Amino acid sequence: MSLARVIDLRSDTVTLPKAEMIEAIRNAPLGDSIMGEDPTVNQLEKKAAELLGMEAALLVTSGTMANQITLMSLCNRGEEVIMGEDSHIYTLEGAAAAVVAQVQIRTIEVPDGIYDASKIESRIQTGDIQRPKTSLICLENTYNLNKGQIVSLENMKEIRAVANKHSIPVYLDGARLFNAAIELGVTPDVICREVDAVQFCLTKGLGCPIGSILAGTKEFIETATINRQRLGGGMRQAGIIAAPAIYALDHMIDRLSEDHKKAKLLAASLSTVDGIKIQAEDVQTNIVSPVISHEDWDSKLLIEFLSTKGIKVKNIGEKQVRMVVHYQITDEEIQFVVSAFEEFSSSVQIKTTVH
Ligand SMILES: *Cc1c(COP(=O)(O)O)cnc(C)c1O
Repeated sequence: MSLARVIDLRSDTVTLPKAEMIEAIRNAPLGDSIMGEDPTVNQLEKKAAELLGMEAALLVTSGTMANQITLMSLCNRGEEVIMGEDSHIYTLEGAAAAVVAQVQIRTIEVPDGIYDASKIESRIQTGDIQRPKTSLICLENTYNLNKGQIVSLENMKEIRAVANKHSIPVYLDGARLFNAAIELGVTPDVICREVDAVQFCLTKGLGCPIGSILAGTKEFIETATINRQRLGGGMRQAGIIAAPAIYALDHMIDRLSEDHKKAKLLAASLSTVDGIKIQAEDVQTNIVSPVISHEDWDSKLLIEFLSTKGIKVKNIGEKQVRMVVHYQITDEEIQFVVSAFEEFSSSVQIKTTVH
């Protein structure tokens, strides 16, 4: 069995805009969005704010920019922010928190996507001559971009209570917010109720080519708009970015459950492959990161083999790869990937089977 095209599972960011999105771009009314005059951007921001149950929203170029704008807007230079140690802000933003926002990050472990509210509380500092003041708590839901774990509403409420007690705002990096909402069985505003500000990525499961939405109070978005400008993120005829985003909010959210179903099926099928370790329960949303349990194999060997089959996966460790399911991945392709793993497993001599 062979498939003509490449099966790219490295990330849900590899998704290409659908024909309907290109059509939406073609037809979008445009204007100068720094002047507030791009009708398509204005429509998107209003729509996104309503969807999230927030007062206002702002189109920005990336999730990273949304995160940094938030740190700049809610913290002063030299203050401290508490977040999980696997957070994107901490691990994958080129130390922008230090370089751009000039805040210090204090991390906590978040095992299985569960934030320990008492641990967070114990890290909060009011600030004195030696200790920086804690000015923000950052959550991520889904948590950990190699795992896609769902943070429960109860857990978010616990953090919220601690934050309220100390009058500290809570920000949600919701790059994959809708993946979490679908699995929690709630509309996104129910999640956003537990935080003061939030961002989600348009470029992941939603399949847009560019952009993130940052949302919060009117006052926060006013400050964020100034900080976006400082970062060079003010855009002119940004309706060409907003148009596919409007399509995505209407058509690409509910279908995310299909990606989750496929991801769970992929994990369940791989759990029976010798030398590969993953459980269906390890997968909560669209991210599947199997571990190579065979002592003689490593990620490089697996990735090389898969690439001969036209399958791309991401190397996330000596013995672990990541696969992210998205709208361009079909059931047939999932089966093809499983058979490629089986072929890999049987073609490399298995000395010991470790499960
Ligand atoms: C992808 C991602 C981001 C960054 O988004 P970009 O648009 O790539 O800058 C931030 N946070 C999380 C959790 C992500 O997965």
